Amino acid sequence: MADFSLQLNDDQLQIQEWVRTFAKDVIRPAAQEWDEREEFPWPVVQEAAKIGLYGWEFLMNNMADPTGLSMPVSIEELFWGDAGIGMAIMGSGLAAAGIAGNGTPEQLMEWVPQCYGDANDVKLGAFCVSEPDAGSDVSSLRTRAVYDEAKDEWVLNGTKAWITNGGIANVHVVVAAVDPALKGRGQASFVVPPNTKGLSQGQKYAKHGIKASHTAEVVLDDVRVPGSCLLGGKEKLDAKLARYREGGASSGKQPAMATFEATRPAVGAQALGVARAAYEIALDYAKERVAFGKPIIMNQAIAFKLANMATQIDAARLLIWRAAWLSKNGGFKNAEGSMSKYFASEMSVKVTEEAIQILGGYGYTREYHVERMHRDAKIHTIFEGTSEIQQLVIARAISGLRVE
Ligand SMILES: Cc1cc2nc3c(=O)[nH]c(=O)nc-3n(C[C@H](O)[C@H](O)[C@H](O)COP(=O)(O)OP(=O)(O)OC[C@H]3O[C@@H](n4cnc5c(N)ncnc54)[C@H](O)[C@@H]3O)c2cc1C
Repeated sequence: MADFSLQLNDDQLQIQEWVRTFAKDVIRPAAQEWDEREEFPWPVVQEAAKIGLYGWEFLMNNMADPTGLSMPVSIEELFWGDAGIGMAIMGSGLAAAGIAGNGTPEQLMEWVPQCYGDANDVKLGAFCVSEPDAGSDVSSLRTRAVYDEAKDEWVLNGTKAWITNGGIANVHVVVAAVDPALKGRGQASFVVPPNTKGLSQGQKYAKHGIKASHTAEVVLDDVRVPGSCLLGGKEKLDAKLARYREGGASSGKQPAMATFEATRPAVGAQALGVARAAYEIALDYAKERVAFGKPIIMNQAIAFKLANMATQIDAARLLIWRAAWLSKNGGFKNAEGSMSKYFASEMSVKVTEEAIQILGGYGYTREYHVERMHRDAKIHTIFEGTSEIQQLVIARAISGLRVE
């Protein structure tokens, strides 16, 4: 078990500085342009790939840190740069986590690199769970996976909604119902390899924030994938389904849930980066802006807001680091992953709103970026489990009861 320390080690400090420099020099200056264009920021992601910041090795190196802290530390800096571009860089990580969470080591080695490509040919991954009628209620997925034994192929049909990198990804990881009667326990994850017939992009969504990140529907129309694309393999799935059909005790998690649980501290770190960015702008502004003959920070009304923001940001970071450490060292005991995501995302919405207030009229314009940060912060209370769903997870963990 790795020691938990609030003192980052040399490796972690180095990664932090490296990502911060890229965020400051490359991401921040590009943020407004891509927010306005509402397009995937390919040139920025390519630059990130060139220095090794976008790529499966970066992900693996971060994951290899036994303290678990490298990941949230890197993500905080990326999203401090900009959340839309940050999401464009991190989006493939969700597909990678879906593969890592449910696949065999061989499947991981085959597919995760293909979610990223290389510096000269950048590729993306997409993790496709949500559907128009099933977001929080993941157990109600309608996308079906049917096995064609004669050909050893799986046939996928359905429509996925709000998918990050949906339709523009090289590798789509799709969660589908194999046995709908078993609800969430009858689901499995499949890799849809590049250029597979029948997979297409539906509508691309126009969004409130993180506009540089591509979000779209994914339509699966008789998509055939080889048997080897079932993550975890058929033998394991058959055994699991047989156990559930007999009403046996669950030994495994729903595939989508296993992925989302693991990524919650990372989503918290995204929200944290956005909040810190807005707080820093507000602090600098409050020291400079003069009203009634003195800097506005000399008024308790403004100084206390900033004191509150700083406290909330640090509290979120502590929850995130604890959750990240636990996820590598024994696992969550009391929904600590959900606590970190829930607190950090709500905190980020409040802190970015306060930043606008501190900047007054300037805050409401695009010039100072805090209005964009406020729009970007909001997604974190919605995706990868809404705040209400996080509270449900926490309530169930602390009570031991199936709170509805
Ligand atoms: C920008 C963006 C990117 C996304 N990326 C992806 C992606 O890459 N892959 C993917 O699979 N999905 C993705 N999503 C989907 C996202 O995870 C869902 O939108 C989210 O889980 C909420 O589901 P929903 O929209 O269906 O809301 P609903 O589930 O319909 O919820 C609506 C409201 O009801 C509340 N609610 C629902 N059930 C309960 C309950 N039992 N108790 C209390 N309150 C409840 C919710 O908290 C929410 O406030 C993305 C969404 C967005 C907006």
